[in-house]
Amino acid sequence: MNDFSESCNCKTGVDMIPIANPIIEDEEIQEVVEVLKSGFIAQGPKVAEFEEKFAQYVGTKYAVATSSGTTALHLALLAAGVGEGDEVITTPFSFAATGNSVLYTGARPVFVDIDSQTYNLDPAQIEAAITPQTKAILPVHLYGQPADMDPIMEIAAKHDLRVIEDAAQAHGAIYKGKMAGSLGDMACFSFYPTKNMTTSEGGIITTDNKELADKCRILRAHGEKERYQHVVLGYNFRMTDIAAAIGLAQLKKLDKFNQKRIENAAYLSEHIKEIEGVKSPYVMEDVQHVFHQYTIRIENGSRDEWIQFLNENGVGTGIHYPKPIYKQELYQELGFNDNCPEAEKAANEVISIPVHPRLKVEDLETIVQTLEDASRHFM
Ligand SMILES: *Cc1c(COP(=O)(O)O)cnc(C)c1O
Repeated sequence: MNDFSESCNCKTGVDMIPIANPIIEDEEIQEVVEVLKSGFIAQGPKVAEFEEKFAQYVGTKYAVATSSGTTALHLALLAAGVGEGDEVITTPFSFAATGNSVLYTGARPVFVDIDSQTYNLDPAQIEAAITPQTKAILPVHLYGQPADMDPIMEIAAKHDLRVIEDAAQAHGAIYKGKMAGSLGDMACFSFYPTKNMTTSEGGIITTDNKELADKCRILRAHGEKERYQHVVLGYNFRMTDIAAAIGLAQLKKLDKFNQKRIENAAYLSEHIKEIEGVKSPYVMEDVQHVFHQYTIRIENGSRDEWIQFLNENGVGTGIHYPKPIYKQELYQELGFNDNCPEAEKAANEVISIPVHPRLKVEDLETIVQTLEDASRHFM
């Protein structure tokens, strides 16, 4: 068991296959020890090196490291000029941070429904949501599959909007030959421990636009243009060199981690297609899906009963996400009364099952066997 098992109804004596299990090895530990010994433990040379290497990996000119994926989103929106009275078009089927980061700026998230197969923002419904207040579009590459960016970029160009990718789940994902994180005006990644790579807590903004990168840097450190010269109201959203050292070690292994996720997903999909009542994830043509989550859909029957069955038989699960963001209490209190039928349907039917790189063959076999048993039990 560890902190990342989101549910634990397991029978005593049954070991749960966790839904996430970060890989921290000697290399990360050594790197951190060196930083601690160096005396540079806040933002310093390791952060600069990590920014350079991460930008190189994604294929952008600049990267600005932050304290989390959430603070990366907050900074990117501010740098894009989003503020009080503005609107940002986004998906309701995401982690709350996607909507919250818009609220921090004083702007209003405008939720547009998802595509029922990819669970990503449906480009065909974006234009109807654009108003004179719209400043930006914030698509999420959910579960590690890129959003359909070509039509999104086209709409943005036509209406003069900024596009910020929420790539928190999509390190190494590829859309039509281009890396996630290099597709919009800016992109934000998270390095939370459950993500495809980690720095403990941490985030980063990638962009080809120097002006936007500079704005993010200034906003990241109290609006300082030079030491003790504060030109705007900024924040302390810096990454530490301790976190960056972990990130440098992880970045070297990211492709290997992703390859394992992709292989695990292929195994699961190959077997799940035979199982009645369960739908495996749909992967678009010409993308590399990096399976931050492997999320199945229960076609009929009670999703929560399936979860209980899986957990009781040692398979950890997650629900990403149990309700659309606008249905969260905070949003209800703020008067959001959106209705996105596909997001609501998905929120009731999805189950994430383990796909992380530490799964063993036996774990994959157990997962498939348990799904087969569940299908026989419920169908
Ligand atoms: C994890 C995540 C975030 C927030 O990242 P943190 O590092 O946890 O702040 C934002 N958006 C999505 C889609 C995420 O999955």
